Amino acid sequence: MISFLDSIAGKIQEFVLVPLMYQLGLMQWEELGFGWALFAVYGAVQVAITFAVCVPLEKWRPVENWPDNKAVWVDVIYTCISRVGILPLITFVLFWQVQTALNGWLTDNGYVPPTLERLFPSLLGQPVITFILYAIILDLAEYWRHRLSHRYRWWWALHSLHHAQRQMTFWSDDRNHLLDDIIAFFWFGLVALLIGVSPMQFPLLVLVLRFLESLSHANVRLSFGWLGERLLISPRFHRLHHGVDAAGRRSCNYGAVLPWWDMIFRTADFSPRYFPTGDPTGGELMATGTYWQQQRVGFGRFIGALLPGGAGNAHR
Ligand SMILES: [Zn+2]
Ligand SMILES: [Zn+2]
Repeated sequence: MISFLDSIAGKIQEFVLVPLMYQLGLMQWEELGFGWALFAVYGAVQVAITFAVCVPLEKWRPVENWPDNKAVWVDVIYTCISRVGILPLITFVLFWQVQTALNGWLTDNGYVPPTLERLFPSLLGQPVITFILYAIILDLAEYWRHRLSHRYRWWWALHSLHHAQRQMTFWSDDRNHLLDDIIAFFWFGLVALLIGVSPMQFPLLVLVLRFLESLSHANVRLSFGWLGERLLISPRFHRLHHGVDAAGRRSCNYGAVLPWWDMIFRTADFSPRYFPTGDPTGGELMATGTYWQQQRVGFGRFIGALLPGGAGNAHR
């Protein structure tokens, strides 16, 4: 399977990227172009796997049925742009560049680049355990980023785009404002650099974590049971975060993959309820507008929130 994906990426590289880069005089980026193509293919496969798992689930026990599900299509566009276009570019190309430069600079100046294995030598030769530990630390960082994005007015103005969807499905995970995505990538990348995630592990971590996040947005009446709910975030758990009453400052269930942080920091709500989703303060364009309308309105709300006394958004 992996060699098959590699060969598809090789073909994209050979027939699309190299001729394009040659035309644009960007041949020095050839190797990185292959890295992007490879992870764009992985991203496309991930979307296909998510689709294959989530569509039957959503057909099996949907929380809501919509006679007209046009609003869902915008989320499909968000997913394709993010998973196949931007995520591979940032997670592979950018992370690789930054880490190589940073490690080179640290080594030149007599420092040893940080890694978890160096901090805990017993982890050496335990790649699976290290991978899981990296995922847990990054998930904690995600919890705080998400919680703070509800805390500040300007940040909520951007993040409210994620909450505006009234027809939430597994596609909704990638429904984010571009600025919010950029902040998220820097946040995630910085933590990954600090704990020494290697450039090859980084895209894999993103693939695994994002698959679980997509599942948690699925329009399915699904809980993992008393214990399961406390181990991994279920669609029921994350849906409460998207409930109409939970939009804004006073929310619950901020976690991305693990519910542990919500339990530790007392923001967990395990009640077995399924509310309608959406942000009543967001306006119609944020909910059902086109991709660019949503981006534009989100940006306007962001600027409004930054201006002194700006009534850019009603933040409860
Ligand atoms: Zn949120
Ligand atoms: Zn969400």
